[in-house]
Amino acid sequence: MTDDPQAAPFETLDPQDWEAMRALAHRMVDDALGSLETLRERPVWQPIPAEVAVRFKVPAPWEPQGAEAAYEEFVTSVQPYPMGNLHPRFWGWYMGNGTVLGALADFLAATMNPNVGGGNHVAPLVEEQVISWVKEMVGFPDTASGLLVSGGSMANFVALAIARNVNAGFDVRALGMQAAPQPLTVYASGEVHSCAQKALEALGLGSVGLRKVRVNADYTIDLAALDAMIRADRAAGQRPICVIGNAGTINTGAIDDLTALADLCAREGLWFHVDGAIGAVAVLSDTVRPLLRGIELADSVALDLHKWLHIPFEAGCVIVRSEPAHRGTFSLTPEYLTHETRGVAAGGVWFSDYGLQLSRQFRALKVWMSIKEHGLKRFGRMIDRNVAQAHYFGELVRADPQLELMAPIGLDIVCFRFNPGRLADGALDTLNKEILMRLHEEGIAVPSYTTLHGRYCLRIAIANHRSIQDDFDVLAREVVRIGQDVLAVPEPPMPA
Ligand SMILES: *Cc1c(COP(=O)(O)O)cnc(C)c1O
Repeated sequence: MTDDPQAAPFETLDPQDWEAMRALAHRMVDDALGSLETLRERPVWQPIPAEVAVRFKVPAPWEPQGAEAAYEEFVTSVQPYPMGNLHPRFWGWYMGNGTVLGALADFLAATMNPNVGGGNHVAPLVEEQVISWVKEMVGFPDTASGLLVSGGSMANFVALAIARNVNAGFDVRALGMQAAPQPLTVYASGEVHSCAQKALEALGLGSVGLRKVRVNADYTIDLAALDAMIRADRAAGQRPICVIGNAGTINTGAIDDLTALADLCAREGLWFHVDGAIGAVAVLSDTVRPLLRGIELADSVALDLHKWLHIPFEAGCVIVRSEPAHRGTFSLTPEYLTHETRGVAAGGVWFSDYGLQLSRQFRALKVWMSIKEHGLKRFGRMIDRNVAQAHYFGELVRADPQLELMAPIGLDIVCFRFNPGRLADGALDTLNKEILMRLHEEGIAVPSYTTLHGRYCLRIAIANHRSIQDDFDVLAREVVRIGQDVLAVPEPPMPA
């Protein structure tokens, strides 16, 4: 610092003009809330024009452009082209809408900017609080541990890493997978999410280590086939370590018989993990809760809070029955991270002891504030309504001779297709793909797609707190309209 009046002003990353920044901040909040309030009036999605896309291919700005200019560019080039998952007619893949207070909480969290790897400050208490709410929801004991993570993929990874280390039969942390006397195997239905395979590949089990079990007609795991596979693998010299139960599969929302899987795992000495990225939070729903019976018996559960709880991305959670097993997999405390008993380096739980990340964002705040704002019962009612909407849409499909239901409705997921009769499966695949593209491009609705028994299906996953009944009428009507339009155009002549 200098008192020389001629000197250049002290340079920092703080605003040079706090009043101007305050005015800009107010404008940003007004614009953002205005945009959220009116989003139903806009197309669900629109393509990014080429002249906008090139604005993201410019050299790095080495000189300041200022906050106002950066915000203007956001308004013109970024904000108009969202993914669409805010919209009441977005039902693609499996998303959430976000919450307004959640977004504001993310801003507040960033203004505090703590590092939630550990230490003696309030953010870890907020995260512990949120995790203990999740444990209470699922029916886990208070002694269980947990971690907020980016999402379901990381939650599954953390749980599978613990399962591996606990059941490998040797010290994986010290010796590595090259010391494995036998191949380790993990079991799940063929409907398990791809993130399980990614996790097992990264954990050194390989994709061969994920043993995919046949499913029943309702897409739940075939328990007899699972039992037989475990026996056969043991006889062939493999070491089964874990079964993953699905609480809501990505394709059809199927929920495995979790109680039966818990029994089997207890009997066979296997780690019982539940991938509840979709369905675990549906313990809050009176209609779904009975279907999830047995989830409370798991050794670990992966949940997504950014899907059916609508917390703004990213927010996932893993809970683990055995806290020592959890800490034993990830804790590593070098001198420079010594947990003290006094000062900022003290503190109870160091979350860096429970996952791969050391530096961690304050993602708990948006969860804590959203749950306080709405209460868990309201989230449960939103889930109930989505399930009811799935069945309502299912009725529309059944009632229309040109629409065909392609799988049992699981939770909030409906797989269907336009089928006017007289066309073979191959032609129907092409036709339905075209219908999907036009639904997106015309900004009408965003379903996604999947393939069931080799047939291309349109698929809606209604994790949406903004959808109303009319939105499903629109979808059913528009699928048929577009299907008929596509069929009405004669095939283009073959090029000469
Ligand atoms: C979405 C999903 C995942 C992956 O979760 P992310 O939050 O996308 O990482 C895992 N399992 C299931 C069943 C899912 O639906």
